Amino acid sequence: MLDTSNRPDLPPEISRRRTFAIISHPDAGKTTLTEKFLLYGGAIQMAGQVRAKGEARRTRSDFMQMEKDRGISVSASAMSFDFNNFRFNLVDTPGHSDFSEDTYRTLTAVDAAVMVVDGAKGVESQTQKLFEVCRLRDLPILTFCNKMDRESRDTFDIIDEIQENLAIDVTPASWPIGVGREFMGCYDMLNDRLELMDRADRNVVAESVQIDGLDDARLDDLIPADLLEKLREEVEMAKELLPQLDPQAVLEGHMTPIWFGSAINSFGVKELMDGIGAYGPEPQVQMAQPRKIAPEEKKVAGFVFKVQANMDPKHRDRVAFVRMASGHFKRGMKLTHVRTKKPMAISNPVLFLASDRELAEEAWAGDIIGIPNHGQLRIGDTLTEGEALRVTGIPSFAPELLQGIRAGDPLKAKHLEKALMQFAEEGAAKVFKPMIGSGFIVGVVGQLQFEVLASRIEMEYGLPVRFEQSQFTSARWVNGERQAVEKFADVNKQHISYDHDGDVVFLTRLQWDIDRVARDFPDVTLTATKEMM
Ligand code: GDP
Repeated sequence: MLDTSNRPDLPPEISRRRTFAIISHPDAGKTTLTEKFLLYGGAIQMAGQVRAKGEARRTRSDFMQMEKDRGISVSASAMSFDFNNFRFNLVDTPGHSDFSEDTYRTLTAVDAAVMVVDGAKGVESQTQKLFEVCRLRDLPILTFCNKMDRESRDTFDIIDEIQENLAIDVTPASWPIGVGREFMGCYDMLNDRLELMDRADRNVVAESVQIDGLDDARLDDLIPADLLEKLREEVEMAKELLPQLDPQAVLEGHMTPIWFGSAINSFGVKELMDGIGAYGPEPQVQMAQPRKIAPEEKKVAGFVFKVQANMDPKHRDRVAFVRMASGHFKRGMKLTHVRTKKPMAISNPVLFLASDRELAEEAWAGDIIGIPNHGQLRIGDTLTEGEALRVTGIPSFAPELLQGIRAGDPLKAKHLEKALMQFAEEGAAKVFKPMIGSGFIVGVVGQLQFEVLASRIEMEYGLPVRFEQSQFTSARWVNGERQAVEKFADVNKQHISYDHDGDVVFLTRLQWDIDRVARDFPDVTLTATKEMM
């Protein structure tokens, strides 16, 4: 039986939870791996349903057409499933780099990440970027090297590349036997087992043979002589040259164990899942003000890391995705919405079981629940049983691209404002209202977000919009004493706008302007990030 606890003092219901995200470069196999996770988690009956489900969702919401056309995933969701004695909560991250802010916030809601790399391509740009984000939070990372059924790189090369590029120790949890067409499975280095892939049926789980070291005579019957010799040599070298698995180093984010497999052939996935259970972290302590929140605390606390609006355009509903930070939540509980100090009865929370949304009767620290609401819940909000705690570390980034936006029909300006405010609250874009003049300026991190925004405003509000070049290219939040900020705004009117929270933002085209403010206005500071609260 696997040991489920990294820390002995957690209640078993909490210590068996593993909340994680998958990070990868597009096409490495994230969707396929997710599908297999769900398959083994008993959440779906047959592989292929995740995609099929995706299709069904897309027909419901037309803006998803764009996602489909481009083959990218714009929206994130959370899925729960059981495996052995573990409860896995998998939070999906949007794959495209244009949605990095969303991804960043998603990663604040997980305790670990599974990094998927393509065995032929190694560490690709998007993997590298996402890895850096995980590193900022010292997130433990488990690695899955996928597509081993195809021609892939030399095993040592792959491991070296990860060590070099990502500056993390890599320890092999399994070792591939043969490459490409000759690939036949892996030697499970942690459990001294042979896992043999079934090429005939993609959905058949590998045959597992317990052996007694690589000198075991049974190996001669199972593996062709040349491959066996190579395997013995390589494993011996690996044991000499590569670091041994150190569970503590994994939990601290300094070491990543790597499994080799082929998601599409269902190969190596179970071993990876066992690994997430055994070496992945249980729910972690959450940073908050004025004190941290420990998962084992009796009282319930949670925070919003994502808001998804109009999941069903007919109903204008919004779902706030809440990561439970502590306690044992039960449906119907009254929690305090700390920002507004108002009580909120959580009567219809949803749990995202892979099959569909379902009412969540209960949730423990580590779980992700969805709370339908009409806009009260925003990204960064904390819910507690009364204590004024505020979860920290959920940033908002200054946009890197700015454009003016106008309603195609000038009479619909008010409608546009409403739509924009909603997208701003959802975190889909930054919206700035200039102090002088009319109209709005929209800020995003990647160009594609403009298109998504325009298409959603048209779909969900029936409002065609047009973008216009903006005279500004940078936005900075203005911080300082209220009076100082107001005075600053007053003498820089042409540069000033307000974000959707009413906070003052300095817009400019020139770095020179930003430097000038630092020099001439010592009472205020300009920042490129803002804590959501
Ligand atoms: P994502 O973009 O990371 O979600 O990648 P997908 O899961 O959609 O996979 C991208 C492509 O790689 C698809 O055509 C998959 O069928 C294929 N693929 C995924 N896993 C494997 C694998 O283990 N072996 C091979 N040969 N192809 C795979």
